Amino acid sequence: MKEQPLPPGAPVAAYLRDSGGEEQELSLAQQETEIRAWCEARGLALTRIFRDEARPGSSVVGREGFQQMMRHFRSGEAPEKALIIWKYSRFSRDIDDAQFYRADLRRRGVRVISLHDQIPEGPAGRLYEAALDWMNQQFLIDLSTDVKRGLRHIVAQYGCVPGTPPRGFKRVPVVIGKRRDGSKHICHRWEPDPDLVPLIRRAFEMRAAGTPISQIHAKLHLYRTLNAYTTFFRNPIYVGILKYGGETYEGYCEPIVAPQTWRTVQKIMEDNAERFGRRHPRRVNSPFLLSGIAYCGQCGAPLYGHVTTRPGKGRDEAYRCTRAKRKAGCDAPRIPRHILEKAVLEALIRHILTPENLAQIQQTHRAAAQRRQAERQAQARALRKRQSALRKRITNITAAIAQAGPLPSLLTELKELETEKAVIEAQLQELQRPQPEPRELTPEEITQISERLIHYIQTADKETQRRLLRGLIAKITVTREGDHIEGVIQYYTPLAQPPPPFPPTPRGPDPAAPAPSGLLPIHFSPVGAQPTTFNTRRHPMLTTTAGCRWFIMHLRLKAWHGPTAKAPLPLCPGRLLRWESTVE
Ligand SMILES: [Zn+2]
Repeated sequence: MKEQPLPPGAPVAAYLRDSGGEEQELSLAQQETEIRAWCEARGLALTRIFRDEARPGSSVVGREGFQQMMRHFRSGEAPEKALIIWKYSRFSRDIDDAQFYRADLRRRGVRVISLHDQIPEGPAGRLYEAALDWMNQQFLIDLSTDVKRGLRHIVAQYGCVPGTPPRGFKRVPVVIGKRRDGSKHICHRWEPDPDLVPLIRRAFEMRAAGTPISQIHAKLHLYRTLNAYTTFFRNPIYVGILKYGGETYEGYCEPIVAPQTWRTVQKIMEDNAERFGRRHPRRVNSPFLLSGIAYCGQCGAPLYGHVTTRPGKGRDEAYRCTRAKRKAGCDAPRIPRHILEKAVLEALIRHILTPENLAQIQQTHRAAAQRRQAERQAQARALRKRQSALRKRITNITAAIAQAGPLPSLLTELKELETEKAVIEAQLQELQRPQPEPRELTPEEITQISERLIHYIQTADKETQRRLLRGLIAKITVTREGDHIEGVIQYYTPLAQPPPPFPPTPRGPDPAAPAPSGLLPIHFSPVGAQPTTFNTRRHPMLTTTAGCRWFIMHLRLKAWHGPTAKAPLPLCPGRLLRWESTVE
């Protein structure tokens, strides 16, 4: 489809940009002159010009004129039907930006016309535009590659490296030529600092002899923090090798450290990484199954997974109250991770996902549905009664108007009655709408659901387990008192979809849980089947009960002997204290 040329006299706008760089072709004034001439030749009225001066073209952020132009067209009141630009590279050099804004303008019926890109009209033109966008972006990439290439050249040729040199080195100025204005072009190379060289050697020798970093630090104070030493001991510049910009420069400088000492230190560092580094909590997937759903029973703040490694005691993982950590008004003790997690899994398997409990949930649903149905019927009866009274009254008033004429008082009353009648009719219609009748699950089906869910939970990998728990459990509130922990598990009914909103207030003596927003939908991942998640809504086994309710189970999760007991006793099953369900 060929676009029609703009009719003579049509108002158009122009956008001019000058990136300020040296490669720049035309100043704003020159761009403007040329665009004016172009418009004049076609009889177009150039009614508005947006300008951006000396801004790099890689992003539209910070381009006030560009933003003004977009605001102008987005206001919906712009009379101009076209935007004239000097060249697409003047418009935006970033592909996503250019396509987005141009598409945005097109959608508003605004054509974007470039004076200096020869673009065919129609779909082929779009394709060409996309290619141009790509080229404009490529230009920026090439530019930065050129800059990197230039830097590498300076390193290889003069040994000059930008930035702060590593410990033990100083920056020595090197004149590498003249700038265009005649001034000297000075760069810096790194050279060992004779004052610091003995200190560096000492540090490496101590490390090679097995001295811990903390002791080296206490003695030499090379850095402010202990963290910096790892990078320090691994930097090959101390044996004369510079690594910069992905390149390695052997023999960059005189080695400070003897090669043998260096190798010994590297071996020690590697062994340490093997022992501690790979198990670092931030490097492995968080092992905490319940973060995000576990809350402090004392103050209600979320619990977070906390890992400590103590000398001689090994790794210790626990859930801690975020408020207690900040010392902000809670002193809840930490709860060992494996005890809480095992207790929650056991609670799910032994109490929540059992066929008995699921059957009970179904029964609760049924009872609630029956109660709601009875309420609707009673409501409908009352409304019908009022409806027939209204009808009578309306008939009487109509008769009175026929007799006495349209008196204002009668007309007003008639109007009010008619309004009420209409409202009641709408309500009745709503009440008589057939309610989806949930099919009762047979005991066999319930057993199957129970077995399936329990199987998923027991066999899933950690990540799937985490997802499953988030799908099943809305919230776990845990309190630890001395030797035992007690918790409340608020869970979605595994039989119904979609997940419910948080109930207003759970019944019982427990503190009301704050209502979280945006609860997750229930997703179950079949283990060993497809790796995709599927929603229970689409799962034939789990769709038969309508309505969305949720259930609260109060469980004493686990007792153990003494918080300091090294090896906790085998877990005893959580004792069910009571359970309640909340239904509308
Ligand atoms: Zn707390």
